Amino acid sequence: MRNWSIPAGRVFGIELRIHLTFLFLLIFVWLTESASHGTANAGRVLALVGMIFGCVVLHELGHALVGMHSGVPAKAIILLPIGGITLLDETQQPMEPGALTWKRDIRIALAGPLVNLIIALAAGSILLAVAPEIQLWAKPFVNSGNLPRSLVWANLWLAAFNLLPAYPMDGGRVLRALFSRHMDPVRATRRAVTIGQAFATAFMLAGMLWNIWLITIGFFLFIAAQLEERSAVFQSVLETVRLEDIMLTDFATLSPADTLEDALEKAVHSLQDDFPVIRGSDMVGVISRQKILQALRAEGNGYVQSVMNRIFEVAQRQESLASAFRKLTARNLSIIPVVEDQRLVGIVTLQNLMHSMALLAESRKLRKAALNS
Ligand SMILES: [Zn+2]
Repeated sequence: MRNWSIPAGRVFGIELRIHLTFLFLLIFVWLTESASHGTANAGRVLALVGMIFGCVVLHELGHALVGMHSGVPAKAIILLPIGGITLLDETQQPMEPGALTWKRDIRIALAGPLVNLIIALAAGSILLAVAPEIQLWAKPFVNSGNLPRSLVWANLWLAAFNLLPAYPMDGGRVLRALFSRHMDPVRATRRAVTIGQAFATAFMLAGMLWNIWLITIGFFLFIAAQLEERSAVFQSVLETVRLEDIMLTDFATLSPADTLEDALEKAVHSLQDDFPVIRGSDMVGVISRQKILQALRAEGNGYVQSVMNRIFEVAQRQESLASAFRKLTARNLSIIPVVEDQRLVGIVTLQNLMHSMALLAESRKLRKAALNS
């Protein structure tokens, strides 16, 4: 999802990105407009698309702000032709049993459509009161020739479409939250995804018979549902992996009294990028190969002690990988020392994480196969 999107600024500190397929919306509106009036007026078409775009952003901000309020900050908003997706930063929150979070999830999901309903109701009642010549009930409801009327109907359409119980649309998220009252989050997501994909398939079939645009909507629903399922499964795997399963136990350490040149010499002979710094048996800091090089270039030789990072987090060997991940990302660290009774027993680094995860997955698979045979 991220790779196909371009950054478009920030709102309330949340990164806003436009998915490249958003261009489809422009083309679509252009085509339907020129089909209905012969030639389309470029300025008005752009104004209509800009207006829908703005309403989608407000919808997503509804999710993001309620999320922030409930302790789940938003990382980014990605705008797709079928609407937007707000990426919530759930890694900052331990995955609690669904029973505790389902109400929160429903609130966050409903906030988006609610924003559109409010816009539609407000704009509709103002128009009826002050500009009846707009003819709110005349067709076509959404067209570039009548922007005020389009504002009302586009928002009603956005609210209705997002309330479909087709995960990952907001209605589907409500459904998943309801499922998660009685089952674990991964199973709840799977069930919601299955229903979402049934909707996606129905859209594509209907599109073949009726309107080609529905095929595109179905296609995006399908892709989006799959992405969401994968991230839910990934999150649950992170919770089941203990640090002792994946930590490096064979690693190099430095002493605060080492000179930077000694440290560099050691770094040359090791595959590690990050080193724990140990005095006696105490962890006193961490330092990266890059930091050693930088310091050597900037100030010449010195001691590890004066350059090392004294602020670091440690983890216990029984801790889950998900919790270590939260610590790493919260402080932007690249290494976590694993301790037992104050003694350093291993390290987990971002660099070796993916590698050890892959190995662990293989070994679990082999063990399962051995059990089944
Ligand atoms: Zn939404």
